[in-house]
Amino acid sequence: MATKTNYKSSLNNKIFEIISKASQELHLESYVIGGFVRDLILKRDFKKDIDIVAVGSGIELALKVSSLLPKKPKVQVFKTYGTAMLHFEGIDIEFVGARKESYHFESRNPVVENGTLQDDQNRRDFTINALAISLNESNYGELLDPFDGVFDLENKNIKTPLDPDITFSDDPLRMLRGIRFAAQLGFTIEDHSFNSITKNAERIKIISGERIVDELNKILSTEKPSIGFLLLFKTGLLNIILPELTALNNVEEIEGHTHKNNFYHTLEVLDNICPNTDDVWLRWSALLHDIGKAPTKRFNKKQGWTFHGHEFLGGKMVKKIFERLHMPLNNKLKFVQKMVMMSSRPIVLSEDIVTDSAVRRLVFDAGEDVENLMTLCEADITTKNPNKFKKYHKNFEIVRQKIIEVEERDSIRNFQPPITGEQIMEIFNLKPSREIGVLKEAVKEAILEGEIPNEYEAAYDFVLKRAEKLGLKKI
Ligand code: ATP
Ligand code: MG
Repeated sequence: MATKTNYKSSLNNKIFEIISKASQELHLESYVIGGFVRDLILKRDFKKDIDIVAVGSGIELALKVSSLLPKKPKVQVFKTYGTAMLHFEGIDIEFVGARKESYHFESRNPVVENGTLQDDQNRRDFTINALAISLNESNYGELLDPFDGVFDLENKNIKTPLDPDITFSDDPLRMLRGIRFAAQLGFTIEDHSFNSITKNAERIKIISGERIVDELNKILSTEKPSIGFLLLFKTGLLNIILPELTALNNVEEIEGHTHKNNFYHTLEVLDNICPNTDDVWLRWSALLHDIGKAPTKRFNKKQGWTFHGHEFLGGKMVKKIFERLHMPLNNKLKFVQKMVMMSSRPIVLSEDIVTDSAVRRLVFDAGEDVENLMTLCEADITTKNPNKFKKYHKNFEIVRQKIIEVEERDSIRNFQPPITGEQIMEIFNLKPSREIGVLKEAVKEAILEGEIPNEYEAAYDFVLKRAEKLGLKKI
């Protein structure tokens, strides 16, 4: 059986032998456990971290390991958690003492006691994450698999080691982790575990926004995030975490007019954007780009269904979501808001004849983010009409080409007025006044409209002419 397989030859990082030696010197047992073992058996690319469990003090073991290494790397100790970490050749190695956890329903924090390896495996989230390989002299390389995790790896099952109601209720974050692993690995959540997530979904409310967002980011980073988001949706978790999204899940009909289901449309847009960007914030923008559509939806006989102003409202909703989930309230928020607020701009533009001035205005408003905005809008083309699909994509290509052209000519992206307020004041011997603002705005407009190039000479002549209309004379 697979459980007898020895993994000695797979433990080819020399750190394992050093940990083994350190354990012998301290007379304690140690094991490599969790994600590393799972990914080793899956032959998946190794992540940059290794988890070691010591039956005894993880901190002492880490210090001993460091002392045996030639460079004596610094050990980071987290006393409250009884864990320690050191870096070795670009890899994070985390040490923890084996422990037994017991939870009480009212409290998020378990009562923690020292425990055996088996106790420690019991507190793990999934059978595939409870696999351990011995680093002890007597059975070095032997796999310890009390819950048949290898079977679940082979059969692509996500399954809790204990009764799922206990595992999920103890630490509800595990529900998100389960969905995340299913999405990352292409596994199926086994029925009992799935039903238990549905049953315990409300418990996610006790988990902090930061931890929730960590998992959402990992789901967003998968190749096809709709898989994870559909699982979140079906278990009821999405409705609790991001109700703005589930509010989009409907199709209404009035007088024979229907609108598209914007929830499924959103998931399509999200999947569409993934081959074109790994930037998780652009993926967030795709996820949230239509959230303003639920609260702005109206029907009138003339136009049918409308979502007037959904981009603007959507941008405001983004801020509320970021605040609620304790996401960074910095330039990442600004970026997602901008993408959502501008998400219809290139589309409107590409439905018509693409003019230079419209493109200049787009570049002016989007600035450095104009390519990202284009990428978002291209992903937003989900029409099933092949002619329209082709037409929109072709128009977007024209827009992209024109962006390059107007950029070459006028450098609109980081627009700096070719003539400054100070220069205008000097030319007309003016004190700071309203006229200066008017003239500067007129110059900007003339450049965006393509009347003049973005150059000093042209702007100077333009200002002279325009000033005459205001009754100003050059001195
Ligand atoms: P990856 O690092 O690829 O995301 P991983 O399985 O290594 O996956 P980590 O978050 O690094 O995940 O955790 C390491 C191990 O710790 C897991 O494999 C699992 O055994 C255990 N673990 C982590 N978080 C939990 C949790 N909330 N509940 C129970 N066990 C957990
Ligand atoms: Mg890990």
